[in-house]
Formats: sequence, structure tokens, C-alpha cells
Amino acid sequence: MPQVAAKTKIWMNGSLVDSETASISVFDHGVLYGDGCFEGIRIYNGRIFKLHSHVVRMFNSAVAMRLQPGYTVKEIEDAVRETVAANDRQDGYIRLVFTRGVGTLGLNPFLCPTATVFIIAEKIQLFPDVMYEEGLSIVVAQRPRVPIKCLDPNVKSLNYLNNILAKIEAIDAGCLEALMLNLEGEVAECTGDNIFIVKDGHISTPRKEAGILHGITRQYVIDELASFLGYTIEERRITLDEVKEADEVFLTGTAAEVIGVGHIEDEPVGLGSVGPITKTFEAEFRRRVMNDAPED
Ligand code: PMP
Repeated sequence: MPQVAAKTKIWMNGSLVDSETASISVFDHGVLYGDGCFEGIRIYNGRIFKLHSHVVRMFNSAVAMRLQPGYTVKEIEDAVRETVAANDRQDGYIRLVFTRGVGTLGLNPFLCPTATVFIIAEKIQLFPDVMYEEGLSIVVAQRPRVPIKCLDPNVKSLNYLNNILAKIEAIDAGCLEALMLNLEGEVAECTGDNIFIVKDGHISTPRKEAGILHGITRQYVIDELASFLGYTIEERRITLDEVKEADEVFLTGTAAEVIGVGHIEDEPVGLGSVGPITKTFEAEFRRRVMNDAPED
């Protein structure tokens, strides 16, 4: 979890301010309605992993909600770098947020003349180290993922209640992550991570049409790691039974990176520990990001 250092500098609407004074209005529609979007981005050894892809996804989210941040992609990328430099962060986690801005108490987003834009560069540890070695335990959420037709999960909006309520199901069960199915019962994704399964040496991941966030780590694993390691990853319809009967299951996400799943609903996945193919992906991911994280 991010721990706020005493003297963190926050980039807020064009200037760097101390975290104690960085504040947002109670009339901001980001607060009143969750009307806004965000990205989480990692810094590894001074390089910002997939910065451009994250900022492009951020602008796609903004376009989907007709929110104009008042900055270009290039200006936001520069602002992210400025925030990282101001906080002297070599490793850490960046949170980039656009909100609709200050408006009236009504819903109309177009009565908010100026978006609020802020950037935080902090530390992160999502899951304890031991979970990377022994495997994460996850549950299957009773709550389905919001369908694409209602709110495309690919829009990374500030309204994360669908995921938070599933996360509460996980925490209530003594776990840190929950697998979410779509309304048809097809496997979609976890509350903050994408999912992959391995069966007989073959790797698959839920298709985009299942209603998932098109994870940047997911795409990197499919496009770069898999081909380098000699695998082809199939994007397809996946059932819950397939996940439960898989030899290996792993999750990907900006904060989680690549992490193996050891148990689902208290039942072991494969041998109940992190499998060999997952370990290869975990290690190759780590090697690449620590050596020369791509910023494209
Ligand atoms: N799914 C959801 C719901 C998420 O919030 C995230 C984290 N942003 C992911 C998947 C993983 O996406 P990424 O690899 O881009 O962080």
C-alpha cells in the first residue's frame, strides 16, 4: 500500500505543492460522483514503465467520458516525469488522476468548467513478498463484473465500487484478491489484476469481450514476454472450472506485476504453490523492468 512520505510533492493543476496543502474541493465532481479517471504507473530504477501507454489509456478513458483535461499527452508525460524528479523517486508508484473539476451539486458534468489534474509519486507494496514465493490465495467474488454495455471496464474511471465491493468479499474471506466473472459467468478479471491460466503447458487469458480492463501488464506479457519465452498466449472464453482445474494460475497488474496464485477458495491450484511457467514469467518480467523498463 502507498505510504505517504512526510515531504511528498504533488503535481496539482500545473504546479508542485506539498502533500499537506494539496487538496480538492468538496464540490469537485470527482468527489461527488466519482466522475473522473485514473492510472497507476510504476517506476523501476528511474524509468517509468510503459508511461506512454498509460497516458494514452488515460486519455482514452477521458474521451469516453467526454472529459477534457486541458493538457496534451506530451504535457501529461512531462508532468509525470517532473513529479517523479521532484520526489527523487527511483522506484515507486505514480497515481495520475483527472477529475471533472468543481461544479454544481447536480450531475451535469458540463457545468464543471475546468478539470482537476493531479499526480502523486509514492512507494508501493501491494502484496507481501512471501505471496510472490508461495502464491496468492484468491476467492471467487459473488458480485459480477459490470458489463461492458453499462460501463466498459476499459474506462478506468474513479468509480471503482464494483471492484471495491468484490475486494471486500476477498478481505472477508481472508484473501487479498477476488476473481470476478461477467454476468454470463465467464471469467473476466480480478479486482485490480488480469488473470492467466496454464494447462498442459498452454497459456490462456480471458478475451477482451469478457469485459476486462485491457491491462498494460497483460499486453506486455502477451506481446513481449510470451514470445521471448517461447509461448503463444490465447485470448479466449474461459470458464471458472478451467481456472480451478488449471496447472498454474497467475495474475498481472501494474502494482502486482506478475504473481502466481496458489489457492482458489482454499483449494490448491496445481501443487498449491507457484508453478514453473509462472516463475519463469515472474523472473523475466522482473529482469526486464529492473534493467531497462520500456517507457513506450
Ligand atoms: N484489471 C483491473 C480492474 C485493474 O484495476 C488493473 C490495474 N490497473 C488491471 C486489471 C491491471 O492493469 P494494468 O496492467 O494496466 O495495471
